[in-house]
Order: sequence, then C-alpha cells, then structure tokens
Amino acid sequence: MTGVGYEVTVDQDECVSAGKCVASAPGFFVFDDDEIATVDPAGPRPDDDALLRIARTCPSGAIRLTRDGTPVEL
Ligand code: SF4
Repeated sequence: MTGVGYEVTVDQDECVSAGKCVASAPGFFVFDDDEIATVDPAGPRPDDDALLRIARTCPSGAIRLTRDGTPVEL
C-alpha cells in the first residue's frame, strides 16, 4: 500500500553541491542557479525507500525527511 510519502527538503546552507541526489533522482532533486540542490515537487518522485537511501548518502546530511511534520531518523 502506498501512503502519504515523506516530505522532503534540502537544507541549502548545508548542501555542498556533491550532486549525488541530483544524479540519483534527476528532475526531483535539481540544482538551482548556484548549483545548490533543491526539490522540485513536480518532478518524478522516488519512492520512500529510495528517498531514505538518497538522504543517507548525502555527504553533508543536507536532505531532511519528515512524516507528518516529524523528522525521520536517517
Ligand atoms: S547529495 Fe546532498 S550535498 Fe549533494 S547535491 Fe544533494 S543535497 Fe547537496
């Protein structure tokens, strides 16, 4: 069953532009004009398991996942 997925944000102050998220889920994680990652909610959304993997592999821990406003432990 698919429920409401994680809410995803990028802490742009912490992003180091490594690009792993953008490579893993292009169109959902995108670089802004300063090559800092951001989320395009209209982009193709990975499932929650993939989001968890992507967030865990962000080298700077900039990706935040929450569910119903509660932070998800990475
Ligand atoms: S993986 Fe992390 S550091 Fe790299 S671009 Fe994405 S948010 Fe930024």
